[in-house]
This record gives sequence, C-alpha cells and structure tokens, in this order.
Amino acid sequence: MMKMDSGLLGVAAGAAAAVGFMGYAVRGRSSTVFGESYYHADRTRPALALTFDDGPSETTPRLLEALEKYRVKATFFMCGENVRRCPDVARAVAARGHELGNHTDSHPRLDFKSPQFIYREMARAQETIQEITGAKPRWFRAPYGVRWFGVGQAQQLLGLSGVMWTVIGRDWRWPAARVSERVLNSAASGAIICLHDGRGVRPAPDIGATIEAVEYTVPRLQERGFQFLTLTQILCPKN
Ligand SMILES: [Zn+2]
Repeated sequence: MMKMDSGLLGVAAGAAAAVGFMGYAVRGRSSTVFGESYYHADRTRPALALTFDDGPSETTPRLLEALEKYRVKATFFMCGENVRRCPDVARAVAARGHELGNHTDSHPRLDFKSPQFIYREMARAQETIQEITGAKPRWFRAPYGVRWFGVGQAQQLLGLSGVMWTVIGRDWRWPAARVSERVLNSAASGAIICLHDGRGVRPAPDIGATIEAVEYTVPRLQERGFQFLTLTQILCPKN
C-alpha cells in the first residue's frame, strides 16, 4: 500500500511537472520551445524598445502624435483584420518610420490549434500588412504570448523571428498611473516594453491609458539616458 501510494505520488508529481513545463513552454517569456524567440536585447546598452500590440486602431493616430513629440520610433505588432479595418492608420504608422510586426490575422489563442491554422493566421497577416503598407514584418508576437506546435515552422517559412517582452504594461486593464509605475520600475538597458494600441481585433475607441502612460514615462526614461529604438535596431544593431 505504502509503495503504491508513493508510486501514485510520483506519477502525480511527474504530471504536475509536465503541466508546469508546458505552461512555461507555451507562455514563458524566455521560452524558445516553440521556435526562436527574444524577450530582451543587449543589457549593457542604454536603449529600450517600445512595442504596441493589437493595432492599428481608431485611436492609434493620437499615439503617433505622442511618439512624434518625443521623437521616438517604436514597433507595432499589427493584426491583419485591424489593418484591413484601418488601412490608412496602418500606412500612417509605417510612413512615420515605425517598424511593423506580425500579431496574427484575427488574434486567436494559438494553443491546441493545428499547425495549418497557425500558419494561415500568420501568413494572412503577413500578406495583408505587406499589401497595404508595403512593409514586410520580420518579427512575430503571439497573441497573449501563447505559442504552440507549428509556430516555429511558420516563423521559418515566413521569415519571422518571435518576440515576447521584458515588461508588459497591462495597459488594457490598468489606469495610466499604474502602467507608468510598472514601466518606470522595470525599465532597464535592453528592455522590450509591451503596450497596446488596440484591443484584440475589436474597434478600440479609447486607448487613453496607453497614451497617457507613454507621455508620462518616455520623457522620464529619456532623462535617465535611455534611447528608444525599433526592434530591428535594438536586436540587430548591425542592420
Ligand atoms: Zn495582442
């Protein structure tokens, strides 16, 4: 009986470890289990990368004004559906010199999806972004940071590298002050900061907290000596 119990315990512990490992593999910011992925850049260089997910949205133009004011270039992970809904905004983001990334077409969770589904989501976004803006994304960020079997292969086929984040602002939920505090407290050389200029693929009439947090934190971080770079500039300094 004792023996069986410990055996069962061993099985349970093994299962828990497997679940823990899968949780990390799928959502861990440093996980590369499902394909090449970055979550920070050179920690010795006083530079940061601002990244915005889920756009373009109806309110992105206001964010572009704020970034222009501080002469900041950022990276926008766009969803294909949003690009088709707001094509002029997508073109404006590219025209201002920001980098565009791929955030799937319809913003689904990718876990438990087939490799074919995952490839189609990534390929359709890639085609839409290229067709409408002329920019060819080289970075991919999975919705909710959830990767799965097939992401790595799709990345390779489409010429994409995965990017997670060092700091995520939770700006879709938190007020600007709390987002700003989190960003200011965790900003360090090489950090990739994730904020949002949309809300999934729904129209996003209000991203006020995001814009307010950008206007509050960017000048303070510049005063601390940080330079803001696009992902290609911060991850591939020779390009
Ligand atoms: Zn997203």
